Amino acid sequence: MTRPRIGIVGTGTIGTMAAWRAAERGAEVVAFDLDAPGHDRGAAGGESRIFRTAYMEGRRYIPLLQRAEGLWRELEDRTGRRLLDLCGGLSIGPADDPRMREIVEGAREYGLAHRVLTSEEAAERYPQHPVGPDETAVLDPRAGVVRPDAALAAAALRAEELGARVHRYTGVEAVEPHGSGWSVAAGGRRHDLDRLVLALGPWSAAPGTFARGLLESAGLAAAGLEARQIPMCWFPARDPGALVPGPNPVVIRVGEYGYSCFPVMDGVSVKVSPHSAPRPAVAHPGELPPRAAPGVVATARETVRRHLPALHPDPSRTAVYADLFSPDGHALLGPLPGSPGAVLATGFSAHGFKLSPLFGEVIADLAIEDRPGRQAHRETPGAAAAPGTPAPRHARNGDETMPESAVSTAVVITSALLVMGAGALIAFYYGRRAATSDDWIVGGRSLPLRVVVFSQFATASGGGVLVAHVGIGYAWGWSVLVYELACTVGFLLLVLLAKWLRSQEFDTVPQVLSRLFGRDTKVVAIAALCSIVVPFGWLATQFVAFARLFSQLTGLSLPILIAVMAVASLLFVLPGGLLSVAWSDYIFGVFMLVVTVFVVGYAIYAAGGVDAITTRVPEELWSPSSITLVGWPTILLWVFAIVPGTLTNQLYYQRIFATKDMSNVRRSLVVSGLMMLIAGVYAGVLGLAVRAMGADFSVAERELAAGWFIGRLPLWVMAVFAGFLVATIVSTTSSALHSVTTNLVRDLYQGIRGGDRPERELVRMSQLITVGVTVTAALLAIAFPRALDWLVATYAYSAATLAVPIFVGFALRNRVRLTPGIALTAMGSGLVGCAAAHIAGTEVPYAVYGIAVSLAGMLVAVAVRRGVGGGDRTPAPTA
Ligand SMILES: Cc1cc2nc3c(=O)[nH]c(=O)nc-3n(C[C@H](O)[C@H](O)[C@H](O)COP(=O)(O)OP(=O)(O)OC[C@H]3O[C@@H](n4cnc5c(N)ncnc54)[C@H](O)[C@@H]3O)c2cc1C
Repeated sequence: MTRPRIGIVGTGTIGTMAAWRAAERGAEVVAFDLDAPGHDRGAAGGESRIFRTAYMEGRRYIPLLQRAEGLWRELEDRTGRRLLDLCGGLSIGPADDPRMREIVEGAREYGLAHRVLTSEEAAERYPQHPVGPDETAVLDPRAGVVRPDAALAAAALRAEELGARVHRYTGVEAVEPHGSGWSVAAGGRRHDLDRLVLALGPWSAAPGTFARGLLESAGLAAAGLEARQIPMCWFPARDPGALVPGPNPVVIRVGEYGYSCFPVMDGVSVKVSPHSAPRPAVAHPGELPPRAAPGVVATARETVRRHLPALHPDPSRTAVYADLFSPDGHALLGPLPGSPGAVLATGFSAHGFKLSPLFGEVIADLAIEDRPGRQAHRETPGAAAAPGTPAPRHARNGDETMPESAVSTAVVITSALLVMGAGALIAFYYGRRAATSDDWIVGGRSLPLRVVVFSQFATASGGGVLVAHVGIGYAWGWSVLVYELACTVGFLLLVLLAKWLRSQEFDTVPQVLSRLFGRDTKVVAIAALCSIVVPFGWLATQFVAFARLFSQLTGLSLPILIAVMAVASLLFVLPGGLLSVAWSDYIFGVFMLVVTVFVVGYAIYAAGGVDAITTRVPEELWSPSSITLVGWPTILLWVFAIVPGTLTNQLYYQRIFATKDMSNVRRSLVVSGLMMLIAGVYAGVLGLAVRAMGADFSVAERELAAGWFIGRLPLWVMAVFAGFLVATIVSTTSSALHSVTTNLVRDLYQGIRGGDRPERELVRMSQLITVGVTVTAALLAIAFPRALDWLVATYAYSAATLAVPIFVGFALRNRVRLTPGIALTAMGSGLVGCAAAHIAGTEVPYAVYGIAVSLAGMLVAVAVRRGVGGGDRTPAPTA
């Protein structure tokens, strides 16, 4: 093909640069955009972009940045415009911070001009950017600032001069293969093209778009790509003239209240990007809020107050933009799998602008020659790899031919399969003893103390501890212990009614209510529903948590991994219900405890020891006072959500019902509760160690900390860790699955078909329902991996509905005649109170309102009942 027709969808940053570079290479370029090049609604908005050469993100970028600088200069020469102002860049941070070390070592290795300033030197030269006594500042003279609107307008005009056609305000509606090329539907007509470049930035993964459809068919939709908000705030300069480019460099400060900050570009103010502010996801860039949220403004204000005395601490304007982030921060740039002739260029993860002319060149190579970029581009991080695969790295064992990712993937998969296989064998071995539905549902009420304790521990510590709690440790240090402490308190409070629960030989929570209030189908149905939603939510969210973690480790797609976990869960439950679940939990629980201790030790070692952690991590995060660092509103939220959530969680009840010796019931709960604190220590140490090892996530990104840590483990530790992850997650999914099945069999199936069904029928029905529930949860997890977040609300509703009838009912059972009407009133009021507070968006957690209204409703109902019954104190029949 002599002069290929290249269609470029999206002329934001990357698409415009690709259009320019492809046009320079003689290709016929036809480009489309919803808007015009240089507009400010995409990832190119916000007035200014930093260019740097001494790169804290990794020295392997340095040669690429040098090439990119050359291309920026070429664009300037071709268009006669000044675009890149090398006014210098100052990086400030703790002297021993790995990022600061990377800048200096990288600069030395590549012979870059740079200067390490002491705090005195910095104070003399840049008094507007005070450097603390423990900090260092590195000056990079080949850093500066670019105006994105000017740069993109220039690149588009140059491309058009060379014959490119740029269809402005012409959104592409659909694309489809056409002969050996592609057909693009835009502006009411079809355009037939030889090659297609998809450069849709934060629009690439937006639900319902053709781009999303293409990602889905390429198996990339679930590759962890996420459009995230990036807020910016402009602060009035006290002396704007002193802060223009030249006297004032671009500045990046790492560490507490870090930021990126620019010289004055508008004659008035300085743009600051506060690194500690959250960057929440946004499904579609069209839904971006017009201004930064109050929390972001507060963080930005505090950032300025602490570090930027030359600015007034109240921003004069704020705005929110978006970029598409990939899990490893490298772009997805390469041929789109399954779509010959199409090139995907997206996921530039908030650092794509400075390199955009080089990325444009790589795209031109790919599109014109229909093959991976020339040798000169092979080192482009993420560029030579097929989209969705990590940039090629090589095995540490010196095997030049086998990429490291392939070795580690093989190790992770083998370890995971070994652990799953071992667990399934244990489940099968103990499951063979299950002969009756009682064995299936309550483990034949024969579980010894140690099995109950480890099963409670393994069930309670799932994907939440592995990912979310490590994130809490990373962001707020020992505050994570408050979370686990709330679980412990829940377990300890359960002690109050544990003996009674065990002695009454219940199977499910609805049966507890039937015993207290008298049997009634409505009470059973509502209680069953409230008991099911929480474990069902657990099941689906654990499937997603497993898939996300393992897709980071292996590159496999989320649907495949969800299906694997669904099958594994079935293997653990089907042989013998609770009997197989609890015994496999026991073995896994012991394994988890050992690996937890090992991983804690390893994390401290990898971070350089306890001293290194306490030196590198701010004291407010590791000192005992960090226990309240997360703030009282969050602490209250946790306490009021987790304590009642634990108190009404049927998974824990079932292990009480299943305990062999009455004497051990209370002991099992106390020990299980205390063991939860081990999970807190694990999450806290890991979070702090990750920080000390140099990870730099904002508070909103805290949940990336666990994956970051795993990605740095040596192969053998990763093998152990992969097994640990599987054990932790599968023990939770199998318990949750079993719990849901129990409600469906005991409360609904037996309720409808009559209580005394043949044992074989009940066991067979339990197995069938187990399969049905697994398939439903897996499909839900695949279809709505994000929508599952709302299931957090199920805790609140479940607790608001069940806590009062169970606990107050238990307390009053011998004093008042409790009727189904009282139970219904308590549950109904809890539901209404919770929903009303939820809708009103109350500050105090809505579960608290639910529980309070439920209590009020129940007491009123009891009083009315007493009035009607003339003070009848006969308890409800306890048949
Ligand atoms: C606030 C902010 C600050 C940043 N700061 C820096 C920095 O200092 N230095 C740095 O190097 N990087 C920085 N980055 C990162 C860099 O700007 C981005 O990585 C880069 O701009 C991404 O470009 P893109 O082409 O992928 O996306 P975009 O520039 O958003 O382009 C996507 C284009 O697709 C178009 N489009 C969408 N749907 C359709 C459709 N159906 N049909 C046709 N067109 C469509 C959109 O209109 C848009 O023009 C920053 C990013 C942000 C958001």
